[in-house]
Amino acid sequence: MRSITESSTTILASTGTISKQLEIFYNPVMKFNRDISILLLNALNREMQIADPLAGSGIRSIRFIKELNKGIITSIAINDSSTNAVRAIKKNVKLNKIKNKNIVISNKDANEFLLSSKGFDYIDIDPFGSPNTFLDAAVKRLARDGILAVTATDTAPLAGTYPNACKRKYWAIPLRNHLMHEVGIRILIRKVQLIGTQYNKAFIPVFSCSKDHYYRIFFQSEKSKEECNDIIKKHKQLIYCPKCTAHGTTKQCAHKQLQTAGPLWTGQLHDKKVISEMLKQAKDKEVERFLETIEQEMEMLGFYDLHILAKKTKTQPMKTTEMIEKLERNGLKATPTHFSPYGIKTNATMKQMKNILP
Ligand code: SAH
Repeated sequence: MRSITESSTTILASTGTISKQLEIFYNPVMKFNRDISILLLNALNREMQIADPLAGSGIRSIRFIKELNKGIITSIAINDSSTNAVRAIKKNVKLNKIKNKNIVISNKDANEFLLSSKGFDYIDIDPFGSPNTFLDAAVKRLARDGILAVTATDTAPLAGTYPNACKRKYWAIPLRNHLMHEVGIRILIRKVQLIGTQYNKAFIPVFSCSKDHYYRIFFQSEKSKEECNDIIKKHKQLIYCPKCTAHGTTKQCAHKQLQTAGPLWTGQLHDKKVISEMLKQAKDKEVERFLETIEQEMEMLGFYDLHILAKKTKTQPMKTTEMIEKLERNGLKATPTHFSPYGIKTNATMKQMKNILP
């Protein structure tokens, strides 16, 4: 074990290659994930009973306690099924001189922990691997109007490396090309939503991102049959043309050999008001730049990758900024996307795109 400092917090945790075998799990790459979570909860700024069912070293919960605005945390339950992790969590809480009656630390299986509880306003499912097996219990124990946070690090099935695993676990067909992460995150969103609709709970994403081989989504939940019905209406297939990269929920080009992915969520990935509130509070430059991209990003399904588009159309690749300006000059809308540095989201049809290419 080694002493590690992340933002406000110093903890003891195992270091070494990141794997399930790490005794006290701590992944420095996930600092960004935790930074975003803190910004989001501070942006929402409401009182919450918080649950951290897969806490590892406890870094997430301890940072919540130290960095969330006063009055947000009414209670926080920190849990891990590993006895060693729980021992470390207790040590780390002490190390950070946290004395709060409203902290409960437990050593249970995450599902047992959730199901035996009275429920929470915020549940953070942050496993190493798939969130799949924890979704049902989390959805069940999330309070009315609660926030559910989900991390998936098993992006390989979702992004199409293992299409059969994606079908089995996420009930949809992935896509293996530049759109793979957007398709993957939208497949994961739909899966969470389908579990929600079983209990008449509607889960709308207020923040979603794909980064460093993981996906992270925050859902606002609402108990409403009507909202659930509306969600299901937005579960569709994505039709993709490998010949010209046209994409959409309907056929976009005259080519015959098309690929279909999904069903997937075609609705919003973000609540722009939440993002701008998060931006106001962001201090870290990397986080700020990332949020700025997301704030601009159009709510369109899919995007064009300018390098791939150039190859397919045998034209010179254009810079994203150049392409966006050109589209805007033609009265169209276009923005970058956090899914790819060469990607642009636009309302331009394939025909309009081709007219603009050099
Ligand atoms: N959320 C942590 C990282 C957690 S890593 C962070 O932000 O740093 C995943 C953790 O889940 C490990 O500590 C592991 O012991 C624990 N775990 C794995 N399966 C579990 C289960 N079924 N129930 C509860 N904890 C589990």
